[in-house]
Amino acid sequence: MFDTILIANRGEIACRVIDTCRRLGVRTVAVHSDVDATARHVDMADVAVSLGGAAPADSYLRGDAIIAAAQATGAQAIHPGYGFLSENPDFVDAVEAAGLVFIGPSARAIRAMGLKDAAKALMSQAGVPVVPGYQGAEQSPDMLATEAEEIGYPVLIKAVAGGGGKGMRLVEAPTAFADALASAQSEAQTAFGNSHVLIEKYITSPRHIEVQVFGDGERAVHLFERDCSLQRRHQKVIEEAPAPGMTPEMRAAMGQAAVRAAEAIGYKGAGTVEFIVDGSDGLRPDGFWFMEMNTRLQVEHPVTEAITGVDLVEWQLRVASGESLPCAQEDLTITGHSFEARLYAEDVPAGFLPATGRLAHLAFPAEARADTGVRTGDVISPHYDPMIAKVIVHGSSRAVALRKLRRALAETQVAGTVTNLAFLGALARHDGFSNGEVDTGLIGRDLEALTAVQAPAPAAMAQAVMALTGLDHAPGPLDGFALWQPLAQDVTVEAAGDMLACRIVTRAPGTVDVAVQDAVVAACFGANGWRFDGQPAFALHVEGASATVFGDPTLVVTRIDPLDVEAGAGASGALVEAPMPGLVRQVYVAAGDAVSKGQRLAVLEAMKMEHSLLAARDGVVAEVMAEAGAQVEAGAALIRLEEEDET
Ligand code: ADP
Repeated sequence: MFDTILIANRGEIACRVIDTCRRLGVRTVAVHSDVDATARHVDMADVAVSLGGAAPADSYLRGDAIIAAAQATGAQAIHPGYGFLSENPDFVDAVEAAGLVFIGPSARAIRAMGLKDAAKALMSQAGVPVVPGYQGAEQSPDMLATEAEEIGYPVLIKAVAGGGGKGMRLVEAPTAFADALASAQSEAQTAFGNSHVLIEKYITSPRHIEVQVFGDGERAVHLFERDCSLQRRHQKVIEEAPAPGMTPEMRAAMGQAAVRAAEAIGYKGAGTVEFIVDGSDGLRPDGFWFMEMNTRLQVEHPVTEAITGVDLVEWQLRVASGESLPCAQEDLTITGHSFEARLYAEDVPAGFLPATGRLAHLAFPAEARADTGVRTGDVISPHYDPMIAKVIVHGSSRAVALRKLRRALAETQVAGTVTNLAFLGALARHDGFSNGEVDTGLIGRDLEALTAVQAPAPAAMAQAVMALTGLDHAPGPLDGFALWQPLAQDVTVEAAGDMLACRIVTRAPGTVDVAVQDAVVAACFGANGWRFDGQPAFALHVEGASATVFGDPTLVVTRIDPLDVEAGAGASGALVEAPMPGLVRQVYVAAGDAVSKGQRLAVLEAMKMEHSLLAARDGVVAEVMAEAGAQVEAGAALIRLEEEDET
């Protein structure tokens, strides 16, 4: 076993790897960018080395600097985590040339799986079923159209160098083929510098089922399947193991195919073979096809760990340090069922926009495994993936595990940023999902119901209002009491975008009525603190004028100072605000400029995309509050137009 390893990554996966290293007594070296200098993974490691600027190209992608850091700190091996350099064969070559061990497969194995067409051809030779289609070198449009006819519509055009769904087009009928091909090719050329495509049969009702494999360079075993069909725009949202409806025959067939795939390329370490499965008619041993192999540890590996009891990172370290496979196929068994939900800082009602913010409070229930790279007080910055944590549960059956997932999500507490927690909760309660009827289209079909904003529960609202007025402490004998009548206090709050008038009436110490608009909640103080309409209080976090009540869903209520409400600035179209956190790239106007409706006033860069900010109406610029180059938070006022009667 190694004495010291370097983890070339950040966030939850770096912390995850360090956890196992600690358990094995292995010393750890963290690397970090400037903005991550005090990150959790840095604190957890024994040694930390700074790499440079926040942008990945200036830090986590600097292979040479990472190798130098390993050499300077006496590390014998580098764990790449996932993303960043994990599937870069040139980095693997460089690590080995420096006399270090790359904890993962050989550069040759990574290259073999790097392009979709070559990988499909290789798998087909190894006897692994691949999606019927054309993956040849000849790329003339006429010839590709003929191939598409032969495969039979609908077909999928895929960039051979593709990833993240880029350069992929679904074509329903021959008349649409030429245009779809041209746009897939040009997108692929721009994104990957390679316009080659392959064409395959489009599987209707597709399920994404992948098999965890593990090799020692010669032999491989599989650790069963994971179902990752709950996807939004090809991004996995909730994963589970085993797959609902899986039969022993199909599991054996998929497992054997995955092991063949791994052994065909002399695979070493943890890998995932992804299959597309036709779910239209139950699961059948002849109804799955190879899609691609991910030559690294996968984000969703914890569900496999939960059902097999294997620590995959421990296996990675043991095999990389020269041991052979820790166990044989027959020693591996499935116990119970596991789910993983990906908790993100994102604004779901705004279309799942990535969000940022300081995590004023972060807590997970003790019954769940929470893999996270952040703590209370840490910042979700715009520089990296906005994942906060993975919440993982395990139960004796799917039904038990699903109940535990619902409960774990309900008890997860995040204040300081918007999250997708309510969306995950709605998914966990979805009828089809509960019945195991999953396919990759489920979220898209039911998106409206899954993202519907629930009206705040009156009891939670009342609790927030009491907290924001400082009345949620144990009442003193004379609290809020006047001789001639109960004392009333009026406040205005904002919740879920609505302004709400509230009135708190203290009838006796410890007996309070809280009216939010027309709903009245009775608050009573007893031995266990305040109860609202008889229900115990939720956990709560107050920061400044905002209270976050950790009910299900989480509720954020902000007290509004009536003097601060600028008369209808937003409604009159006078204020241009940042729709998401980002970098102001350009500001095109200055105070005094006349602008017309729809005119581009500024450009905000967020999550590698540029967003034009347009004038909502004709008018004159009164004030420009942000300059080019400024980093701004969501909702920051950038430009104000003169009020219409001012002009
Ligand atoms: P990328 O590498 O760009 O992510 P993949 O080949 O992994 O592309 O496919 C991404 C997703 O697209 C899959 O998870 C699946 O939901 C869908 N998909 C891929 N191939 C097919 C197919 N032949 N039929 C139907 N859906 C497919």
